[in-house]
Amino acid sequence: MNKQKALLIIKPDGVQRGIIGKIVSRFETVGLKIIGLKFEWATKEKIIAHYPETEAWFAKVGQRTLTNYEKKGLDARSVFKTNDAVSIGKTVKGWLITYLQESPVFLAVVEGYDAIEIVRKLSGNTIPVLAAPGTIRGDFSHDTIDLANEQNRPLRNIIHASDTVEDGEKEVNLWFKPEELFSYETAGEKFMYSMK
Ligand code: GDP
Repeated sequence: MNKQKALLIIKPDGVQRGIIGKIVSRFETVGLKIIGLKFEWATKEKIIAHYPETEAWFAKVGQRTLTNYEKKGLDARSVFKTNDAVSIGKTVKGWLITYLQESPVFLAVVEGYDAIEIVRKLSGNTIPVLAAPGTIRGDFSHDTIDLANEQNRPLRNIIHASDTVEDGEKEVNLWFKPEELFSYETAGEKFMYSMK
């Protein structure tokens, strides 16, 4: 079985609130290995390349708003002037470009077996009010879709964590150079994975 790599971005709200250490600690204590860490002021080009430019991604993001609005009896046209999921997704991507440049972002690469599933579990639901207690988003944020949309900004949900193995590889290569990643063995992994 192969180990996976996941990219984590502590977004400007996490950086500004001084909780970088607390967040990184959750990934360390679960047993994932940190193989890269840095601080960076993201460029517009990098943020555009980071979030997919595909219809499928825009539709997924837009549908999140539509589903949430339907539950609450709200009309997406009041903010987006459309009910089209793809158009809503494109607007949110524009907001992400501004949001992720509000301050430097903190970047980490973690590695481990099923790392992608673990980082998503620890991060919690994209919508902070739905994120379970004990998750990073559930414990450190409480934003709602309608408030975020009304204020023309993305959900402030503290962290980005790669969603698939393919995304993990793409995102790690986008943000980190090979020489910024470190290969080493931790004492913990000897105890957890030793076959003896
Ligand atoms: P993630 O992988 O859990 O971060 O979720 P996505 O890749 O689907 O969305 C990227 C980011 O866009 C999220 O983390 C939120 O900050 C933001 N976002 C997603 N959906 C919405 C939405 O419907 N409205 C707003 N305002 N922001 C959203």
